Amino acid sequence: MLTERRLRAILTPLNDLSRRLSDTLQAPYRDVFMDLAQDLNPAQKKAVEHVDGPLLILAGAGSGKTRVLTYRIYHLIHRIGLDPYQILAVTFTNKAAREMKERLERLLGPNRTPEWVGTFHALSTRLLRREADHLGFRRDFVIYDSDDQLSLVKKVMKELNISDQRFAPEAVRSHISSAKDQLVLPEAYAGRGNNFFEQHVARIYTAYQEALIRNNAMDFDDLIMRMALGFSETPSVLQRYQERFQYILVDEYQDTNHAQYRWVNQLASRYRNLCVVGDDDQSIYAWRGADIRNILDFEKDYPEADVVRLEQNYRSTRSILAVGNAIIKNNRGRKGKELWTENSDGDKIVLMETIDERDEARAIARKIRAEQASGGRPLRDFTILYRTNAQSRALEDEFRRTVMPYVIVGGLRFYERKEVKDILAYLKIVANPRDSISFRRMVNTPPRGLGDVSVDRIENFALAQEIDLIEALLRASESGVTPAAARTAIGLGQLLAGLHERLDMATSAEIARRLVEETRYLHDLEMEAARSEEAESRAQNIKELLAAIEEHAEHAPEAGLLGFLEEAALIADVDRWDERADRVTLMTLHNAKGLEFPVVFIAGMEDGLFPIARAMESQTALEEERRLFYVGITRAQHKLFLSHANLRRRFGGAMAGLRSRFADEIPGEYLDQESTVRRTSGWGADTRLARRHEDADESPDPPSPHGRFAAGQRVKHPIWGVGRILQVAGSGDDVRATIQFGNVTKKVMVRYAALEKLPS
Ligand code: ATP
Ligand code: MG
Repeated sequence: MLTERRLRAILTPLNDLSRRLSDTLQAPYRDVFMDLAQDLNPAQKKAVEHVDGPLLILAGAGSGKTRVLTYRIYHLIHRIGLDPYQILAVTFTNKAAREMKERLERLLGPNRTPEWVGTFHALSTRLLRREADHLGFRRDFVIYDSDDQLSLVKKVMKELNISDQRFAPEAVRSHISSAKDQLVLPEAYAGRGNNFFEQHVARIYTAYQEALIRNNAMDFDDLIMRMALGFSETPSVLQRYQERFQYILVDEYQDTNHAQYRWVNQLASRYRNLCVVGDDDQSIYAWRGADIRNILDFEKDYPEADVVRLEQNYRSTRSILAVGNAIIKNNRGRKGKELWTENSDGDKIVLMETIDERDEARAIARKIRAEQASGGRPLRDFTILYRTNAQSRALEDEFRRTVMPYVIVGGLRFYERKEVKDILAYLKIVANPRDSISFRRMVNTPPRGLGDVSVDRIENFALAQEIDLIEALLRASESGVTPAAARTAIGLGQLLAGLHERLDMATSAEIARRLVEETRYLHDLEMEAARSEEAESRAQNIKELLAAIEEHAEHAPEAGLLGFLEEAALIADVDRWDERADRVTLMTLHNAKGLEFPVVFIAGMEDGLFPIARAMESQTALEEERRLFYVGITRAQHKLFLSHANLRRRFGGAMAGLRSRFADEIPGEYLDQESTVRRTSGWGADTRLARRHEDADESPDPPSPHGRFAAGQRVKHPIWGVGRILQVAGSGDDVRATIQFGNVTKKVMVRYAALEKLPS
C-alpha cells in the first residue's frame, strides 16, 4: 500500500522536475493557456474564482500571491467576460506591471488586456493629467524627484531666512513627505500642537507647496496625495472612476501608506470589489509611512470580505523555508502563520565568517565560481543582497578585479547622474517654462556667464511680471541685469523658446537632439573625453539618454516629451533591471521585494549593519529589520548563503564586526558554518587582528581578576543583544565591562547585567 511518506517520496522529485521543466520552457510556450485546475492549488483557485465582493489574500512569501493576481485578472476577463476597461491593478514596481501586462496580452490579445495596471505613482499621474481641468491645475506639470524636492526645500528656506545650519533640509524634506503620506496639508500641519522644529517645518511646508504650484510641478508624494484628496473633494471625478473601475486589485498591500489607502478605498467604496494581497511579515516600509494596519484591518473595513490564506510555498527548498519560518517567529507583532512546501530539503544554509569586507567579497566570488563549476549555473542565477548601498563597493572591486560580470540594481540611479539631470533640466524647462528648480540647474550649465545675481534678477522679474521663465529670459534687458548678461540670456531664451514652440510638431527625440547640439553640452564633454575617463563616461551617459528618448518616442509617440520626463521620474532601479543578461546581480534587500532568485547571498550579517544600528534600541524597529531579513531569506529558491566580516571599514573608520543577532536565531540544524579566518598567515594585519580575536575566544577562560568575563568574549545582553567585551575593569561586586553592541558601546555592571556568555 502507498503510505503518505512513500507517496511524498515519489511526488516530491516529480514536482521538482515539473518546476524545472516549466522554468526551462520559454515563456511564450509556457503561457499558451492558463489551466486553473492544473496551475493552482485549491486555495489559490478559490481566490482566483472569487468574483464579486471584497477579498483578502493574506499569505506568506512565495505562496503565489502575485501569481493569483494575474490569474484572477485573466479569469475575470476570459471566463466571467468582464470588460478589461473595468479593471484596475496596482503593482509594486513598474517592472511587475509590465510583466503582468505582457503575460495577459499573450493570453488575451492586446485588445482584451487591461490598460490600467501600474504602480500607485504611475496610475495616479495618469489620472491627474486626465482630470487636471476638473481638479484645478495644469495638465503639463512636471514631476520632481527627491533631489529636486531637496533643492526646492533649500530654496524656500533661503527665501524664509531659515538657516540650513539650524535645520537640516533633508530632515525638513522628510517631515513634509510624511505629512503628505498622512494627507496632512500645510494648514492642518501648522494647526497641530507642534514643537519648535515643526513650527519651522510648517512655515517651510506652506511656502514649499506654493512654490510647487508656481513651478507647475508635483513631487512624488503629491502624486498620491493630490489624487486621494481630489477624489474626496471632487465627487464627480470620484464617481466617474468608481463606475469605471469596478474591479480593483492591489499587490503588496501591507506596504501601503495612509494616502494610498485612501486613494484605493475611495475608488472601491461603491462596488466593493476590492482584492488585496499581502503578507504582514513582509512589511518593510514603515520608515516611509507604510501602515501595516491597512492590511490587518481589512476585515474591519469590509466585514463581508472573504479571506483566503495560502500556506504552500512553491519557491524555496524546505531548509530555506524552515529558516525563514524560524526567524520570523521571533517577532511579536504578527498574525502568525506557517508555510510549508513540497519542494525537496535542499542544502543547508551556509554562514560564512570572513576577515573584513574585502575578504567577504572574495569569499562570495569564490563561492559563485564553485557553484558555477559544480552546478553548471549561469551567472544570472546569483544575487547578492545587502542592507546598505555602500556595501556594494567592496563587492564591485572584487568582481572587477576578477573579471566577473555584474550589475547593480540601485545605487546612483541613471536618471540621477549629474549630466543626465542637466539635460533633463533643459527638457523640463522646454516642457514647462515655469519650473524654477530646473531653470536654476540649467541656466548656467555649461557656464555661460550668468551668475547668481543675474539669475535672481531674471527670476524675480518673471515673478513680478507674472510671466514664465523663458519669456523672462527673452526680456532679460528689462530685468536689471548687465547688457552682457542680457545678451546671453536672450540667446538662451531664443533657443528654449524655439524648442518650446516645436513641442507639438517635433518628436521628443528631435527636441532632445537639437538641444544637446545647440547647448554644445555633449560636444564639450567629447572634447574633454580624450583626456578624462570621467568625461568619456559622462558623454556615454548622455548618448544613452538620447537613445532612451528615441526609444520612448518610437514606442509611445503620443506620450511626447512630457511622457518621457514622467517615465524618467517614476522609473525605479528595479524597473531597468534585465534579469536575462548573464551577470551576477547586486541589490539592496528593500529592492528585492517580490522577486525570486535561484541562489541568494546576504552579505554584511553584522549587528549595527543588519540590523542597522538605529533600529537596535527599539523593539518595533528591530522587528521591521527582522521582517527585512525574512524577505531576504525567502527570495532564495535553491540556495542561501549568509556572510559576515570581523572587521568592516566604513566612513573612513574601521569597526569590529559582531555577527548579527539574526544569524544567532537560525536553528543549528539548518546551518553549515564556514570561516576564512583560520587560513594560514600572509594576509596582513587584518588576518592578525582577526586571528587574535579568535585565539582569545578559543582559549579557556583566562585567569582574570574580574571573574568570568574577559575582553574579547562574545556575550548576549537581554536588551542590547549580542556584543563583544572590549574592556573589563574593577573587582569583586564592582566589575564593569565595556561592551560593543554594533555601533554603540555600553558600560554595564557585570553583577547585575545578566550577561550570557556566547561561543565565538
Ligand atoms: P512574495 O511574497 O515574495 O511576493 P508571492 O506570494 O507573490 O511571493 P509568487 O511570486 O506569486 O509568490 O509565486 C512564487 C513562485 O511560486 C513563482 O515562481 C510562482 O510561479 C510559483 N507558484 C505559485 N503558485 C504555484 C502553483 N500552484 N504551482 C506551481 N508554481 C507556483
Ligand atoms: Mg508577490
